[in-house]
Amino acid sequence: MSGNNTNTENDKIKSEMQNDKIELLKSYCKQTLELIGEDSEREGLKKTPERVAKTLCELTSGYDKDPLAVLNSAKFKEDYSQAITIKDIEFYSLCEHHMLPFFGKVHVAYIPNGYITGLSKIPRVVDIFSHRLQVQERLTTQICQCIQEALNPAGVLVVVEAQHLCMQMRGVEKQGSVTITSDYTGTFLTDKHLRQEILDSIFTRS
Ligand code: ZN
Repeated sequence: MSGNNTNTENDKIKSEMQNDKIELLKSYCKQTLELIGEDSEREGLKKTPERVAKTLCELTSGYDKDPLAVLNSAKFKEDYSQAITIKDIEFYSLCEHHMLPFFGKVHVAYIPNGYITGLSKIPRVVDIFSHRLQVQERLTTQICQCIQEALNPAGVLVVVEAQHLCMQMRGVEKQGSVTITSDYTGTFLTDKHLRQEILDSIFTRS
């Protein structure tokens, strides 16, 4: 019983903190609108600060979540020792330099070493890391290291393909250019043939 009460109490404190955060973000957004020369009271903009505050909280909700715990919650003993590849995991993130979106696909492969994880857990890990302010390079490495740490597989390979709106909308204006980053551990570092085989399977579009 007391455990439940504590949980309810914690939930209450959490939701109060969240409300305070949204109120503050709303007032900053209202100021931003005025600073760029807008009338924050006009019809179309009246509810914008609230929408922006809630959207920002949603897009940065990954700070409150533990990706390692997600993988550990669905870790199963299994003898399968060939590569498992999950490709085309869609993601949306915000670049930490401009807070503008970058988005694309994450491809993950790993070679189990006694343990596998639930297939849906890898996209969950991608979601958690991408719902933080990021650079594509760190996003790639964090996903790779998290899988390595949770499952201790023989190897992990992560490839991220993304378009950055801060490149496309601003001065540089390289429309449609795609940035590719990758990180490997274990067997994927040492076995070039295996790595190539998996990369071929990722980049072969049907
Ligand atoms: Zn940027």
